[in-house]
Amino acid sequence: MTDQIVIFAMKQSTWGQRRPMQWVPLELQLSNMRMRKHNILTKDDISKVNKLNEDLALNESQLEDFLNVQHSLGKLIYYPLPLLDNFVIIYPPALVNILRSFVTCTQFFPEKENLKSILHNLTVTGKIYKTDLFKLWNQDQFQQYMPNDATKEFIVQLLIHLDILIIPKTFKHTDCSNELYLVPCMIKESRPVNVFPVYNQGDKTIFLRYSLISGSIPSALTYKVIGAVLSVWPLKEENDRPCLYHKAAVLNVVEDNELRVWVDNNQILVQMTNAQSLQDMSKDVAASIQECLTWNLESCIEFYSSSFGRKIKLTDVSKLYSLEVGIPHHTDVCFISVTKVKDTDTWVCKQGCEHSTRYLRYWIFNRSQDKCEAGCTGLSKDELESEPNEKHLVRLGSTFGIEKFKDYYSKLGMDATTFENIEYDFKTHGSQGIISVAMIKWKTSQPLANKTPTMNDLFNALGDSDTTHRMCKVRI
Ligand SMILES: [Zn+2]
Ligand SMILES: [Zn+2]
Ligand SMILES: [Zn+2]
Repeated sequence: MTDQIVIFAMKQSTWGQRRPMQWVPLELQLSNMRMRKHNILTKDDISKVNKLNEDLALNESQLEDFLNVQHSLGKLIYYPLPLLDNFVIIYPPALVNILRSFVTCTQFFPEKENLKSILHNLTVTGKIYKTDLFKLWNQDQFQQYMPNDATKEFIVQLLIHLDILIIPKTFKHTDCSNELYLVPCMIKESRPVNVFPVYNQGDKTIFLRYSLISGSIPSALTYKVIGAVLSVWPLKEENDRPCLYHKAAVLNVVEDNELRVWVDNNQILVQMTNAQSLQDMSKDVAASIQECLTWNLESCIEFYSSSFGRKIKLTDVSKLYSLEVGIPHHTDVCFISVTKVKDTDTWVCKQGCEHSTRYLRYWIFNRSQDKCEAGCTGLSKDELESEPNEKHLVRLGSTFGIEKFKDYYSKLGMDATTFENIEYDFKTHGSQGIISVAMIKWKTSQPLANKTPTMNDLFNALGDSDTTHRMCKVRI
């Protein structure tokens, strides 16, 4: 029996690095402190407490491990990140109570007029000043958690990290003395239905629609998506009021483009409108907006599922939603799936009318849409024998979705573990970033195996016969 336990323990990656038995004294001390109503400690406090254990005290890296593991178990909140790593919330419900200081319903607003008006203002504009936040936190029931300004500053940084407070793009670096935040979840005003979407913009507007597969989108995810959007593009303002609504926002994007984003049941809808016409809309701008939104949605889904203990791989996230592009038609919007729109110049919609896909393809970076000249026979022998540079690698990588790329990568002779590690290390870079890193990794791994990487290697791994001209796009 004990043998089995040892074998099991040795299989754990933590074997030999962490000795949880050694954690017991510090765990007991922390639970004592919780009972004595300590909620938020500095890391120095914890270090001092730890040192009381003398020969059982953890060294610095063991203490760091301890905090990280306890965090992942939900026993405390600790982020080893700049601005966040000096404090530890040893009693996590404290954070929920602190949140109630400004994320709350009208009936729980404080009695004091000045505090009440801060919260009333917040529900109308979605804005709150840091000084006002601190005023709310000076009330007795919050003061006990945050007795000094250093702790309050830490909580502000934590709430920014958790996307509850959003630093709006517009107001960045304008007035550092009194910072302003947006709190999307506190906006009560519903979106004006007549402008989400705007219909009378026929040839000036295109749509995107993300539909989540399972049920409706949880509120927490909605606010994270809206928050992410707000930190990328400036909010449009009308009569001094930011165009931020309950689960909706209007943003200004470069070159006279207006972006409307709103959440409706299980769908996230996006409308981009150019002030002049679709001809004036930049393909690159539209496609990069789509990539940015997609990446943000995927990382929000990933964050949401990981904070509920279900770790999903980035490659699986894309299966949890579908993406369509659309154009206005009469008083409706006609959508077509993003995969279909790539292969067709026109399509007949449900109402029986034919639409061009020309502007809809603006949403997608399509590096392989230009056709070769007649009689093109692909790369010459010399070209095939040449060494691919980084541009070639990134360009070829961009012609794959991540699932197809995994097959291709193994045909290049790379093992799945290498790819999984890259996927993990570079998950914040989005799928194209991961693919690019993997391609470059392939090239650098070749000399180690005494091989010279060539365009021919890349070509042969493509396999099928109809890929001759795929390499032409890489060469450009
Ligand atoms: Zn139609
Ligand atoms: Zn029609
Ligand atoms: Zn060709």
